[in-house]
Amino acid sequence: AKNCGKNNAKLYSSALTTQIMSHVKLEIGLRKALQNNELYLQYQPQIDVPSARLVGVEALLRWRHPEHGMISPDDFIPLAEETGLIVPIGAWVLRTACMQARAWHDECGRAVRVAVNLSARQFKDENLAQTVLAVLEETGLDPRLLELELTEGTLMDDAQATLATLEQLRAIGVYLSIDDFGTGYSSMNYLKRFNVRALKIDRSFISGLPQDSENAAITRAIIAMAHGLKLAVVAEGVETDEQLLLLKQFGCDMAQGYLLGQPSTEEVIGEMLMNTAAT
Ligand code: C2E
Ligand code: CA
Ligand code: CA
Ligand code: CA
Repeated sequence: AKNCGKNNAKLYSSALTTQIMSHVKLEIGLRKALQNNELYLQYQPQIDVPSARLVGVEALLRWRHPEHGMISPDDFIPLAEETGLIVPIGAWVLRTACMQARAWHDECGRAVRVAVNLSARQFKDENLAQTVLAVLEETGLDPRLLELELTEGTLMDDAQATLATLEQLRAIGVYLSIDDFGTGYSSMNYLKRFNVRALKIDRSFISGLPQDSENAAITRAIIAMAHGLKLAVVAEGVETDEQLLLLKQFGCDMAQGYLLGQPSTEEVIGEMLMNTAAT
């Protein structure tokens, strides 16, 4: 039994070392990723459900590591938050997305809203509103065409700084939405208090539709509540025609998901915009 314990301890510590090593390596890599141009954005279409028109895109961050290839945002965003690297990286995402939205507007003659994900750590940065304002001025993008996606967790933390930042962003006139709605501490209180424009229903509620009657009930209730509060609703992770049809019946405003478009390059989005230019 003693031997066994010893072996276990050894195994454990070596596994732990590997974990720490790769964590440190990842961190060193991430510090260099921005300056080495390893980061880029993809854009996923958001469709107006009644008209099937492309009305917006969500900017999604990508990291192509020179040795390890593609690393998922689910793996490196948490690390970027822990280390604070999300602040400079997030500012780069914001500037790149706004420049791109302005370019689409100029090249395709058609306004398209660009949504940028903001992490809680960025929200705690007292310079956030200043950064947003500077980027909008630099790019000349209409503030209404910039959507900032916040999570419930970010909003629940109603520290003085968070409230002040929200107030400043509202004054700038950007479009605020709540991401992954229904997965956090969904307090209906903050929906009243914070003047957001839209809710994004999390993919976990959409994926079982139309068969899953509980998720169907939740989705329908979220849409009804949002409309009662004059908020728009975006369904995330729409993958099938049946899901889209049900969402249409529920009166869902917008939809995003593989059925409507994969995360794509700016060229692909530009072509979609050209093909659906205002007539
Ligand atoms: P999210 O904000 O909820 O983004 C939606 C995720 O769902 C994206 O994953 C997207 O590729 C994926 N997705 C879209 N449609 C479908 C579908 O029909 N089916 C399925 N199964 N998945 C779909 P991705 O790109 O891997 O991003 C993961 C998360 O990383 C994002 O979740 C977001 O929380 C975070 N993230 C991505 N880019 C940024 C960024 O620039 N800043 C920050 N702070 N977070 C980011
Ligand atoms: Ca999002
Ligand atoms: Ca989401
Ligand atoms: Ca998410």
